[in-house]
Amino acid sequence: MKRVAIIGLGNFGYYLGRELSRQGFDVLGLDIRKDAVQHAKNDIAVTVVADATEKENLLNLGVAEADAAVVTIGTNMLASLLTTFMLKEIGVAKVYAKALSEEHERILKRVGADTILFPEKDMAMSLARRLANPNMLEYLPFIEDHGIFELEAPSDFVGKALRDLDLINRFGIQVLAVRQAVSNTLKFIPKADFVLRTGDTLILLAPNKAMKELNKVAG
Ligand code: ADP
Repeated sequence: MKRVAIIGLGNFGYYLGRELSRQGFDVLGLDIRKDAVQHAKNDIAVTVVADATEKENLLNLGVAEADAAVVTIGTNMLASLLTTFMLKEIGVAKVYAKALSEEHERILKRVGADTILFPEKDMAMSLARRLANPNMLEYLPFIEDHGIFELEAPSDFVGKALRDLDLINRFGIQVLAVRQAVSNTLKFIPKADFVLRTGDTLILLAPNKAMKELNKVAG
């Protein structure tokens, strides 16, 4: 994924756009307020003053070609809902939308948002988890050059035991869990004799480079 459109450059949109730009994404930011655009323009490649509730504006700016769009408009709920609706209508594959309340969240889902972000709730849940589990390695997914990846079991993995795949010795990849297609349950830290079935998803801790290699050889 490369192109991301950020609708609304308030606090949330600005920090998201700045970080994605640093990570090498092609970011388009837009806001109805000139001052918000002014503030973001040195940190985000393309910033535009525009009303995102107007379908024409979204089309003219090429938002339809984005891989994902993030609606960060919060307080103006009508604008948030209209924008989300328009983004799905013009065919944006992945639309993330920010909610400020549970009601807002429910309606966003109804108008087609793929993923809801509820920063206050998400932060509160994450803080509660952190307080309850002080030893949890929150930084794990962000270790440089490593990541946690999902991989649907390629056809030549199916019917094989993890021992036979030997991902750890061949690629330096650790299998953390398997989401089993049959039962839709997560098997954490599966043993070497665990046999993969069609549709199972592997959750892997891996160096980014190793994942690329694995994707090349896995059929
Ligand atoms: P915050 O980021 O503090 O939560 P808001 O939730 O109110 O602020 O809105 C985020 C940003 O979305 C603001 O900068 C606002 O100007 C912008 N915005 C609101 N309505 C529109 C719209 N129709 N088109 C584009 N941007 C909008």
